[in-house]
Amino acid sequence: MATALVGASMALGMGLLYHAGARQRCLFDWALAGLFFAANNVLSALMIAFPTEQFLVPGAGNVFYVAGHFGILAGLRRHLGLPPRWEAMGVLALAILGAHVLAPVQSSLAHRVLLFTPIIAGINFSAARLLWRQPDREARRAGMPMILLETCFLVQQTVRAGYLLAGEGGSMTPAVSRFLQISGSLAVLVFLSVAMLSCVMIVHQQQARALRLASLTDMLTGCLNRRALHEAAARTLARCRRDGAPLAFITFDIDHFKSINDRHGHAVGDSAIRHVAALSDGVLRGCGALFRIGGEEFAVPVAGARAHQAGAVAERLRALVAATPLDVGGRHEVRMTVSVGVAALLPGDAGWEDILRRADEALYYAKQHGRNRVSVHGVDVQATPPASRRAAGA
Ligand code: GH3
Ligand code: MG
Ligand code: MG
Repeated sequence: MATALVGASMALGMGLLYHAGARQRCLFDWALAGLFFAANNVLSALMIAFPTEQFLVPGAGNVFYVAGHFGILAGLRRHLGLPPRWEAMGVLALAILGAHVLAPVQSSLAHRVLLFTPIIAGINFSAARLLWRQPDREARRAGMPMILLETCFLVQQTVRAGYLLAGEGGSMTPAVSRFLQISGSLAVLVFLSVAMLSCVMIVHQQQARALRLASLTDMLTGCLNRRALHEAAARTLARCRRDGAPLAFITFDIDHFKSINDRHGHAVGDSAIRHVAALSDGVLRGCGALFRIGGEEFAVPVAGARAHQAGAVAERLRALVAATPLDVGGRHEVRMTVSVGVAALLPGDAGWEDILRRADEALYYAKQHGRNRVSVHGVDVQATPPASRRAAGA
């Protein structure tokens, strides 16, 4: 009955977690798994209290047991974006019930063991393999308790089945038989308790990851935001310094963007920002990630590039934006240009912010000298006092 209670707790826990905001449908599969384990144990207790010759009763108990294990696998599959395949469990249930009609299965424990152990072991193996083969390292780490659990249960089931088969001829003493029975029940109890915690860990890791991703992503364009730049640029700078590689920053800002908002409305303004971000993404593929660091201002750290190399990339970007107007619902086109600033890492730089500041100065220079152009710090422009740059509002 203790196992039935743990199964019911698992069902309740998964339901509560869903309503607490986790909102992942795999929790329903795991809740169902808990209910199936509970049903299996209640039925076993009833069969001990009221022995029956009816073959369907132990058949149903075995179906519940297999469905419990299957539910865990189905939840893992759904969690990883795969179909849960409950219909396969439907087929298995019919096959298990059908097998209980057969006299050899009804009369011999060995035949039942031979029938069910491979099914359960197969489910345990599939679950462990699925989690192990995840490409994401953090997700695999979060799934490790479940991987170990499924593997241990698989081994325990197989060893237990071996003992049961060996003792089928009557060679097993009552003490060994009792030990096997108790250890089997305890194993399911431990399995369920740990499975419940493992499921929570898996869901929690995915939620933490989604939250982190949301905190680093710009909603309008889908590219990375300023917060992400702080993390990524520090890492990129450290890597370039360690490898003795050059590093450059490109920053760009849409020209006269306020007038686009004023003439066409804020919604078209939003589309214009998305349009420029998408064009830039294409040009920058393989060079570096695009970060939206202001309203219509972007930055790109280009690891391994010197100023003139980043300048060439910036020129391609500028030319593409100028040549590709935004199509507004097929009605009219909005032409745009960007001004671009480029700067490279210098030996005396304290941090990546110094490079970005110089790229910003070059951008200001481009704005001051006609817009729709690329300026490279150290070529077109030397240091400009930050106060005058801010006054221009670039
Ligand atoms: P400049 O050529 O000097 O850059 O002129 P500008 O008009 O583009 O000036 P600035 O770069 O300062 O313009 C920023 C404007 O962008 C101000 C703000 O109203 C608008 N803006 C900022 N964020 C958004 C946004 O998410 N959507 C829209 N539609 N507009 C935005
Ligand atoms: Mg602007
Ligand atoms: Mg701006």
